This record gives sequence, structure tokens and C-alpha cells, in this order.
Amino acid sequence: MSDTTTGLRREIVSVSRALDGAGLMPNKSGNVSCRLPGGFLITPSGIPYSQLEAAEVVELAADGTPLEGGLRPSSEWRMHGAIYAQRPEVAAVVHTHSPRATALSCARLGIPAFHYMIALAGGAIRCMSYATFGTEELAHNAVRGLEGRRAVLLANHGVVAVGASLREAHAVAFEVENLALQYLELRAAGLDPVVLDDAELATVIEKFTDYGRIDGR
Ligand SMILES: [Zn+2]
Repeated sequence: MSDTTTGLRREIVSVSRALDGAGLMPNKSGNVSCRLPGGFLITPSGIPYSQLEAAEVVELAADGTPLEGGLRPSSEWRMHGAIYAQRPEVAAVVHTHSPRATALSCARLGIPAFHYMIALAGGAIRCMSYATFGTEELAHNAVRGLEGRRAVLLANHGVVAVGASLREAHAVAFEVENLALQYLELRAAGLDPVVLDDAELATVIEKFTDYGRIDGR
């Protein structure tokens, strides 16, 4: 474990534990990664987040080749690698099976721009078509669904959130679950949300950038 990656490894562990503790990564699901020069760090497969150590975070080259011996990377490493390849401004990726957003994905519903906090995700959140976990097809769907966005729902699966830092990707993943809760409540009450228009979302995104709620200005 190189010294240069120690801080990022620790941050991946703390973000994973926070998401797990909040119930957003049930039963060892989900994965967290961050970009490195020439590759990325990603959570290993099969280890409960409560027991995860910084040294167990797996380092991969940009094409997914493992660097040094170690644990198996998360089964979704292809998706993380594809996002880093296509989105140079993205420095961290969080994938969850957070319950409410995943429920929407199982109905193949995205999240409309009914609350201004959706600006954290860059606008209305798409739900992409189904693909088997761990596949190139799923990775491709995630990249397409993230165009112009920081979050996407994957049908019958879960959520991908990205950011210019682990902190930002974590915040987006958390907010997606919160928006999913609100949207489900609206639907359960038989109410139709009033959707904010693109001009208002652009205003909110600008304010978020000013206030530092969105990194990478
Ligand atoms: Zn998954």
C-alpha cells in the first residue's frame, strides 16, 4: 500500500461505512471508488463494510488490471473504469442498492426534477434499461445515463452517483435516496409533482457551485 494512496483508501473506507450505516448498502451491496493517476482504487468484493480496512481497498490500472496481489475488486469494477474513462471531471464513483431509489429502478422509473436538491445530480435522474451486474453492457448503460448528470438509476439494480471528490459522490448518493423517498411518498399519496424547469435548475446549480455544495468549479 503506497503512502500516496493511504488517505484516499481511508476516505473510501469512511464513505463506505457511512453509506452502509445509513442503510444504503444492504447486505454488502454497492461499491465505492476514486480515481488515481493511471487507474483507480475500489472497494473489494465480499467484505462487510464494517470490517473493511484501508489496506484491503484494491488498486486497479485504468483498464482494470490489478496492481500487486490483493483481494478481488468489486464485481462492478468495469462500470467504475468506464465512467473514469468517459468523464475526466469525475474523481469518485459511489454505487448503492439504496432501498427507495432501487425500488423506483425496479419499476423502471427515474426521478423527475420535483425538488431543487436534484440539482446536486445535475437535473432529472434517468433510469436506464436492465443489464446483468458486472457486465460491459451495464457499464455502458451507466455511462450513457450519466450524460450531463451526477446520478443514474440502473433498472432492477440500484444507483450510481459520481462527483469531483469522494465527499461529493457520497452527498449525491445520499440525496438520490432522499429524493426517491420523497417521490415515492408523492406517488403513494396519489399526488403529481410539479416539476421545476431547466432555467430554475440552472440557477440552483449556479448557487450550489457558489456555496461549495458542488465541487469542481
Ligand atoms: Zn450493484
